[in-house]
Amino acid sequence: QTGKTFGLIGVAGYIAPRHIHAIKETGGNLCAALDKFDSVGILDRYFPEASFFLEPERFDRYLYKRQRQGNPLDFISICSPNYLHDAHIRMALRNGSDAICEKPLVLNPWNVDALEQLEQDTGQQIYNILQLRLHPAIVALKEKIEKESGKMYEVDLTYVTSRGKWYQESWKGDIAKSGGIATNIGIHFFDMLQWIFGGAQQSTVHLHQADRAAGFLQLKKARVRWFLSLNFDDIPQPARGNGFQTYRSVTVDGEEIEFSNGFTDLHTQSYQHILSGHGFGLDDARPSISMVHEIRNSQPQGLTGDSHPLLK
Ligand code: NAD
Repeated sequence: QTGKTFGLIGVAGYIAPRHIHAIKETGGNLCAALDKFDSVGILDRYFPEASFFLEPERFDRYLYKRQRQGNPLDFISICSPNYLHDAHIRMALRNGSDAICEKPLVLNPWNVDALEQLEQDTGQQIYNILQLRLHPAIVALKEKIEKESGKMYEVDLTYVTSRGKWYQESWKGDIAKSGGIATNIGIHFFDMLQWIFGGAQQSTVHLHQADRAAGFLQLKKARVRWFLSLNFDDIPQPARGNGFQTYRSVTVDGEEIEFSNGFTDLHTQSYQHILSGHGFGLDDARPSISMVHEIRNSQPQGLTGDSHPLLK
């Protein structure tokens, strides 16, 4: 039992249940939640006592009153659309709470700098969920690469995760709100790759559409050809014929890294990690935010040079 108190923003959404579960599993108490949508019956299963707010103004008032009474919430978990993270982190820190924020922490590198200032002003911390860094297969790969110095690896990243028509109609399909596919879907992998193989030195975008993006990255220790898609038709055979909706492959020098299992409960582990004082902060979040910002603002070059083998 940590006895930590939590608030949660975006409680009616897709990812919120993993946070609610993680709060429960780590012995915390969800005291208050906010969403502009009221389909939040999940609260009864975990925290029936939680206060619920439909309006940010009233949630903010609740947080402010708690702080004034010397009892601020320890953490606010942020599961809202990407473009609102920055504002919601501010609401948390200004009211005396630390923030635990979903990926991407923010959309632009300069937003990270401004949040750093806010941390200094308030004395509160900002943590980012980067759950792939806790995946056992990824941790093992990082350890292996660290042991073999001086080598340049050839990496292919393919991630096809099919989404229905709703995706493009929602905030996720709006580049101003989600950052587009490379930001919203790709950031997990760009963070993971730069964490393992070192920072980005050069980035080329070959293709950048609403539902597909591809490019090349020169990292310190790897040459990466990447391809991301939301389109079922891009799932390679035989996976597509077998009805799989998602295809995920990372090869290093032609060798497949097996990490299809071990995804369950990485949010709970992320919370354990934060509560034990090891959470990922602004400096951890910064490199991949810079990478996706550059990708978002690059002119696609077409399928030339080092483009991904599936696109040739
Ligand atoms: P979602 O659209 O299902 O949920 C977002 C929720 O926020 C909705 O319930 C919406 O009503 C609410 N919301 C919107 N504006 C709000 C406001 N002003 N105040 C309060 N609530 C508001 O989206 P999602 O898939 O749950 O994604 C939420 C966040 O989690 C995003 O940042 C996304 O990138 C991230 N995410 C992370 C993972 C992961 O694996 N770590 C997976 C999916 C999504």
